[in-house]
Amino acid sequence: METVIPKEKENCKCEIVKYKTSDSQYNCLKDFDVNIYSCLKNDRITVILPNEFIVKISRSKKLVILRQKTNEKSIVTPDGTRYEYFNVPNDSHQNINIIYPGQQYQRNLQGIEKPLTIRSDEDFVRTDKNRTKFCFLGFTVKQSLFSLNGIRITIRVYTKDSNKSMRIRICPEHQSFFVVHLLENKINRCTSSEFLCEHL
Ligand SMILES: [Zn+2]
Ligand SMILES: [Zn+2]
Repeated sequence: METVIPKEKENCKCEIVKYKTSDSQYNCLKDFDVNIYSCLKNDRITVILPNEFIVKISRSKKLVILRQKTNEKSIVTPDGTRYEYFNVPNDSHQNINIIYPGQQYQRNLQGIEKPLTIRSDEDFVRTDKNRTKFCFLGFTVKQSLFSLNGIRITIRVYTKDSNKSMRIRICPEHQSFFVVHLLENKINRCTSSEFLCEHL
């Protein structure tokens, strides 16, 4: 195990730990309660967010968001179908909403795009032709399409100070990620996975 301070880092106390297995673990040590685990064996990047939220991004381009406190989850499969699992303690009776890609783009009579899944004011999902955006208290998870089959995941994490936020971009296909801190309009590079692909 080896702790590496990435070269490009400016003024932040984040660290990245690289394991012999070529797995790595990123820890943000200031301002944000965020960890990123990159596990090559499982072909998966896992992001641990505040309030027991976990985001898993597979090389197969499947996106999973777990809400551990309520046993709810959202899954977006590579073909764009979204599965919303609602809070029922007993898994066998869990309620599942399935939203197919063609159903996702909805406008009401005023021409305003409607979010299709609302769990609460602090937990809802909007989907349009090019992206699906999950909004939570303190962070957002966006899956966007950048070419025919290309998918990019962007996680933004906010603080009480509205000028200060953090952005993580992840390319599922290449299991590559890139972290920056944003202060007002200034972007400070933080860290990235060893291999940085052109999609980030
Ligand atoms: Zn890529
Ligand atoms: Zn940092």
